[in-house]
Amino acid sequence: MRCDGLVAVVTGGGSGIGRACVEALLAAGARVGVLDLDPAGAPTDPRVHPVRADVADRASLAAAVASVADAYGGIDILVNNAGISAVGTVEDNDDAQWARVLDVNVTGIARTTAVTLPHLRRSRAAAIVNMSSIAAGAGLPRRVLYSASKGAVHAMTLALAADLVGEGIRVNCVAPGTVDTPWVARLLADADDPVAEKIRLAARQPTGRLVTAPEVAAAVVYLASPDSGAVTGTSLAVDCGLYGLRLAPPSRPD
Ligand code: NAD
Repeated sequence: MRCDGLVAVVTGGGSGIGRACVEALLAAGARVGVLDLDPAGAPTDPRVHPVRADVADRASLAAAVASVADAYGGIDILVNNAGISAVGTVEDNDDAQWARVLDVNVTGIARTTAVTLPHLRRSRAAAIVNMSSIAAGAGLPRRVLYSASKGAVHAMTLALAADLVGEGIRVNCVAPGTVDTPWVARLLADADDPVAEKIRLAARQPTGRLVTAPEVAAAVVYLASPDSGAVTGTSLAVDCGLYGLRLAPPSRPD
C-alpha cells in the first residue's frame, strides 16, 4: 500500500473522507493536490498543495489541475471524492435539486476525470478512485436523488475502466456505509432527536457502529497504489457489512 513518489489529486479533500484520504496518501508517500470549495481544511504540510476549485465548474477545475501538475511535475492518482447530500422522496426534491446534485456528484466526476486524463496518461502508475456509496447498491429510505447519483458513479466507474484499461489506467470505486464525518453530523443536527438518530444509524450497520473516515481512506489508498495493479472496474464496500450481510433478527427472550 505504498504510493512513494506518486502525485495524487483529491477532490473534496478539505473535510471528512477526503481529508482522511489526503492524510493516508501522505502516509503512503504521495504528494497531494487538494481541490475543494474550501481547501482551508486540508492538512498543513509541504507535500500538500491546496487549491480552491468547484467540480461543477470546468474552468476552475482545469486551472486547479494544471496548478497541481506544475507544482509537483505531473499527476498519477485521481480521487473523485467531492459530493453533496440530498434527502427526500421523489416528491420532495425539485428539478433544481436534481440538476444540482447530479451536476456535482456525477458530472463533477466526469469533468475532473476529463481534465486530469492528459496527466494520468503520462504516468506509469495511473489510477482513478471514485467515491460511490452503499446507496448505489441498496435501497435506503428517502434517498432517491442521492442514490441515483451514486448508482451513476458506480456505472461510470465500470465504463471508464473499460475505456481506459488499454492505456494502463485503472478505475475503481469505494462504496462506504454510513461514515462518521461532518456530513453525517449535519444530517444528525437536522434530526428531531440527533442522539437517537445516531444510535439508529449505528444499529443499521451489522457491526453496530459507523464506519470511520480513515477506514474508507485505507481502501482508497489500496485502490490508488500500484499494489492493486490487477484491480480495475471494481467497487470495494467499506460498510461494516451493510450491503452483504442478512442477519437474523435477535431472538425473543423466553
Ligand atoms: P463532507 O461534507 O465532510 O466533505 C465533502 C467535501 O467536499 C467538503 O470539503 C466540501 O467543501 C467539498 N465539496 C462539496 N462540493 C464541492 C464542489 N462542488 N467542488 C469541490 N469540492 C466540493 O462529506 P464526506 O462525508 O466526507 O463525503 C465525501 C464523499 O463521500 C461524498 O462523495 C459522499 O457522497 C461520500 N459518502 C459519504 C458517506 C457518509 O456517510 N459520510 C457515505 C458514503 C459515501
